[in-house]
Amino acid sequence: MKIIQKKSLGQNFLRDKSILQKIISAGELTPQDNILEIGPGEGVLTKRLLSGGAKVVAIEKDKRLQAKNSPLLKLKQKYPDKLNLYFADVLTINLPEILQKENFTDYKIIANIPYYITGKIIRLIFQQKNLPSLVVLLLQKEVAERICASRGKESILSLSVKYFAQPEIVAHVPRQAFFPEPKVDSAILKLKPKEKIDRSQEKNFFRLLKVAFSSPRKTLRNNLKNVFNLPEKRWEEIFSELQLNERVRAEKLSLDDWFKLLKLLDNQFSSLHN
Ligand code: SAM
Repeated sequence: MKIIQKKSLGQNFLRDKSILQKIISAGELTPQDNILEIGPGEGVLTKRLLSGGAKVVAIEKDKRLQAKNSPLLKLKQKYPDKLNLYFADVLTINLPEILQKENFTDYKIIANIPYYITGKIIRLIFQQKNLPSLVVLLLQKEVAERICASRGKESILSLSVKYFAQPEIVAHVPRQAFFPEPKVDSAILKLKPKEKIDRSQEKNFFRLLKVAFSSPRKTLRNNLKNVFNLPEKRWEEIFSELQLNERVRAEKLSLDDWFKLLKLLDNQFSSLHN
């Protein structure tokens, strides 16, 4: 059975075997692994994960792939105990329930994801109480580069990822590696979740970023002043403690700077409404 790819589902199937191997190596795959795959499509990556001995839970939105003669169902027949398929939207399915049901206390996420929901998938991954031990994603090159941005070019996206994990681009992937060829090049992004993540600060950290990046053309101080009601003198002290120029823009701050700022503004968050 051949699937006619749906653009609306971001269906660009990987056809370059050397890229599959790079994804498997980045995932440090072992036969003991539990892998969550988002968007298995026709199962090229799923097959490699299974032949490496891993247990795979795959979530696929396209119900056409549920047909008995689909390549995915054939994989299920070949690996009945190792592969579990869920035909659903990863964004609306109850992921914590699935992870629990599958006994995935320790798991990795390895996937060639649909690009149109990259941001939402990344948010979903790090929203989990039980975080994966490793994440390897094939995604649009520019997005991978934005996530790995060096100091001075940070964004809400890069900082949101760096709050939880260390990002690294493992390889660049040309558009010719897919069928049909997408309009953009891709990259393999490896995200290694940090050992210690202070989840008690999470909510305020994201509220702070939202305020700080609200008008990217404005200085950080002006964006903050719009929301946090502090006397001028206190702003001077805060910027001096952070050793930051008062005209600095939000993109220039490192993750450490944000943590320091979070601490200095700690008692201000109760006055915020969202
Ligand atoms: N893994 C396959 C490969 O490497 O060839 C397919 C990757 S393709 C880029 C993305 C896959 O995600 C497609 O199979 C698509 O149907 C599926 N998909 C799209 N939106 C989805 C969603 N919201 N939830 C789950 N799967 C989705």
